[in-house]
Amino acid sequence: MTTSCVTGLLWGDEGKGKIIDLLAADADYVVRYGGGHNAGHTLVHDGERLVLHLVPCGIRRPDVINVIANGVVVDPFHLARELDALRGHGFAIELGENLLISERCHVILPLHLHLDAAAESMRGDGKLGTTGRGIGPAYADRATRLGLRMGDLIRPDSLRVALDRQLAQKNPMLTSFGAEPVDRDGLLEELIELGDGFRVGILDTGHVLREAVAQNKRILLEGAQGVLLDVDHGTYPYVTSSNASTCGIAPGTGLAPATIGTIHGVVKAYSTRVGEGPFPTELSGDTADRLRTAGNEFGSTTGRPRRCGWFDTVAVNYARAVSGTTDLVITNLDVLSGFDPLPVCVAYDIGGERVDRFPAFDLQAVKPIYEELPGFTEDITGVRRFDDLPENARNYIRALEGFVGVRAGVISIGPGRDQVIRR
Ligand code: GDP
Repeated sequence: MTTSCVTGLLWGDEGKGKIIDLLAADADYVVRYGGGHNAGHTLVHDGERLVLHLVPCGIRRPDVINVIANGVVVDPFHLARELDALRGHGFAIELGENLLISERCHVILPLHLHLDAAAESMRGDGKLGTTGRGIGPAYADRATRLGLRMGDLIRPDSLRVALDRQLAQKNPMLTSFGAEPVDRDGLLEELIELGDGFRVGILDTGHVLREAVAQNKRILLEGAQGVLLDVDHGTYPYVTSSNASTCGIAPGTGLAPATIGTIHGVVKAYSTRVGEGPFPTELSGDTADRLRTAGNEFGSTTGRPRRCGWFDTVAVNYARAVSGTTDLVITNLDVLSGFDPLPVCVAYDIGGERVDRFPAFDLQAVKPIYEELPGFTEDITGVRRFDDLPENARNYIRALEGFVGVRAGVISIGPGRDQVIRR
């Protein structure tokens, strides 16, 4: 089977961008299947840090066809800016050639940003910590059959109908929040202009991908966020509004589930979470600050400091099982240099009972049970062979593999493209 996927096994930010870029060397297609520009995949390009939000991470490889598949919600204003910025960095992006956009992608409109902010402020203390980019409201419109799709942008008649249907509901809502109603004709004009710009790239990507599978082309599916942020299987309600896990692949691409072969589950050598929600192994104080500084743990989309904690085998095992991970990728091992010992959560204490199952409710009340492993102090960022790692670093990796039950074929030891150990 020639279709594989890279998925995050935590709450996002596992370093998937770099791994997708690496694996894209052996891919014909790199495909985003969910989320929107709330995702931020970081690549280090010519020594410069570059964050991709909507454009798939295969864009650095000249022979790869990058696909924004139908499960992605697209803010066309943002996409136009992202393409301009990437072209400004010297990337050769040709719509319809190395970048395809599904005509079925739902569109994020500027009004969705207002609705996102209003919904978050109405949640008061229960705020979710969303990126405020209109992702949730756009997915909600998809579910209630009010959404506009990218294909509408190149069909003015259908766009007018869809926009009128949308504004009949949204303008009264906006007014009730004290916001200005949308100027229909102004927005229509902007969307038609954006559609003209994207026209050659907007097509039936489901058909393209199924044909590619039939021709044994190599397809790499790019997960955004992580399993624990999946709307169904994550830490609800502190989740994203799409199936960020591998279970979003079939609906998000139009590929049948049976076409997916290898699943690369990416996890940091410790844990991080951005935004609100339960996080059993979260640290506070000096150790958290040291980990945050060592790992440069600040959100690539929002700049928010990430919450940091130890490796959680209960959470990772759950995510491994939900996603069907066949190959483990461990990133940021270099960050743990100088931390000794290295605690690893091996079970939860729930009301005095030891459990190794990740619960759907009351996660904030669990107490992690730790096993401590000896740390290492060496700088490992220059290491390229597993056997050259310090003994305690090797033992740490072997212990994680044992806990998770999957071999780590790729270990990342720095942000750079070449800072990787393959086994
Ligand atoms: P993604 O959303 O999963 O693609 O993750 P991000 O790209 O947002 O965050 C990962 C961050 O870690 C980026 O700043 C990367 O450059 C960086 N990174 C990736 N792998 C490693 C690694 O092995 N070590 C270190 N120190 N940083 C890494």
